[in-house]
Amino acid sequence: MKSIFKYYKRYAHLIIAALVFLTLEAICELQLPSYMSGLVSEGIGQSDMATIWSYGWRMIVITVIACVCSVLVGYFSAKASARMSRDIRSDMFAKVMNFASEEYNKFSVSSLITRCTNDITQIQMLTYIFLRMIMFAPIMGIGGTIKAVQFSSGISSLAWVIVGAIAIVVVLIVIALTIVQPKYMKMQKQIDKVNQIAGDELNGMLVIRAFNTQKHEEKRFDDANRDLTRTALFATRLMAILMPVMTIVMNGVMVAIIWIFAAKVDDIAQISNMMAFMQYSLHIIMSFMMISMIFIVLPRAIVSINRVGEVLSMKISITDKEDKTQPTGARFKGDIKFDNVSYSYGGGVPAIENISFEAKSGEVTAIIGSTGSGKSTVINLIPRLMDVSAGSVSIDGVDVRDINLKDLRNNIGFVPQKNTLFSGTVASNIGYGKEDITQEELQKAARIAQAQEFIDSSPDGYDRAIAQGGDNVSGGQKQRLAIARALSKNAPIYIFDDSFSALDFKTDAKLRMALQQEMDDATVIIVAQRVGTIKNADRIIVLDDGKVVGNGKHEELLKTCKTYLDIAKSQLSEEELGL
Ligand code: ADP
Ligand code: MG
Repeated sequence: MKSIFKYYKRYAHLIIAALVFLTLEAICELQLPSYMSGLVSEGIGQSDMATIWSYGWRMIVITVIACVCSVLVGYFSAKASARMSRDIRSDMFAKVMNFASEEYNKFSVSSLITRCTNDITQIQMLTYIFLRMIMFAPIMGIGGTIKAVQFSSGISSLAWVIVGAIAIVVVLIVIALTIVQPKYMKMQKQIDKVNQIAGDELNGMLVIRAFNTQKHEEKRFDDANRDLTRTALFATRLMAILMPVMTIVMNGVMVAIIWIFAAKVDDIAQISNMMAFMQYSLHIIMSFMMISMIFIVLPRAIVSINRVGEVLSMKISITDKEDKTQPTGARFKGDIKFDNVSYSYGGGVPAIENISFEAKSGEVTAIIGSTGSGKSTVINLIPRLMDVSAGSVSIDGVDVRDINLKDLRNNIGFVPQKNTLFSGTVASNIGYGKEDITQEELQKAARIAQAQEFIDSSPDGYDRAIAQGGDNVSGGQKQRLAIARALSKNAPIYIFDDSFSALDFKTDAKLRMALQQEMDDATVIIVAQRVGTIKNADRIIVLDDGKVVGNGKHEELLKTCKTYLDIAKSQLSEEELGL
């Protein structure tokens, strides 16, 4: 709630403008029936043309003012609600961009999308309706009551008609809301679900086709879709029943008023009173209906406000220290040290335990181990994609948690295991990490990453289009572009997480050679599955089940580390092993 409130404050000027014009409109509307009554009793009743004209003019003027006000109210409330929703949306997006994986895992991607779109639209709608009606209802209700008393000709039973009508309206609304509120909660969750399945299936289109599971997937989507429809229909139908019931109540009130007046009417003044009274009682009941309208939108919007608030108020676990919020633009030397580092996902069993090693600048440090041994976990700790559970990771002797995040990440060229390209061109992808990158820098990065050849083979060269996610290039080409993207940052530290796996042996070798030649003073960390890839590394760290079981050069490890020997034996021939 609180996190949304600040947006109302931001657009207070628009909101106040809307409310002022709304008040004006309400006052005009309130005045109209009494003029009408005067017109009938004084003008028509006494056949006085001058009076008829004078009332007529006043009624026209006041109607025009009311119309203009109504338009302005619409304008200001639309503007306030649309701007608010724009701001919430962009703040939410910015917030999510800063999520560490821990926070990210708390929401599903589809839920974040729903929250960023549908939920915010609900808030926008509430704001709009609220602004259009909130002042109107009390003014109409209270003003209408005062006026109605004036025109009641002293008939007290009329009061009971109105009180009765209001009681019916209120009871109906309360009943409807108690039934429908939990449904709205369910509905937002079901929208999440539909989005999630749609996203899943669209992303997995190839797999679905290959496994011939279209029918099954269609059914999965259908089920979710049907669930959502059922809930939405129930809620809408219930609310739809409310409307005609309200109309019946209103018409009942009209009939009752005419009935009661009919017994007493004996002159034109009373008829005009009756007409005005009818109008004012309609106003009173209308004001309650408007409040009910707000209550119809409110429960759904509250669900949405809470869902949006959840994201906005999420505490981000990986942030700068208070006194490190300004980047210094410093360039690191690049000596990385792991000191007794442990990490466990979600506080469960540790994925890595007591990891200690150093990676020096100017050296290639390799990390090898079977899948699930914790290689990615180890290196994700360096750019602080997550923070250690125990121990410390430091660069040039400074704990990474004490370094400004922007500085830290600017100094690291990172190729994640699951890399993604963005829609754009080859050039825009390679230059992603560096503003105003030159053509030479682009080419150098592409050359080292062994991407030059395939870039040149396309007539568009660096302007070749890349589809969303990099789906229009092969796995190996994608990897090479991702490597070039990291290299173009010209950072002192490079981390390659299993980045050579989709390359053929020849390219792998050429790439490593180029790396060594061009990056002689950088710290290079290579995570790999293939012994061939890392054989020449200055230092090889062998991981097994989250622990370091070997640390040294290839030849040493073959003699001292059983795990390494096993891996090597399974991949290299006897001669290559040289044993
Ligand atoms: P590797 O890169 O060596 O294949 P990882 O570092 O990815 O291994 O994973 C190490 C262990 O941590 C594995 O047991 C894996 O299941 C677990 N793990 C990895 N990522 C997550 C995650 N996001 N949440 C929970 N457990 C994870
Ligand atoms: Mg991995």
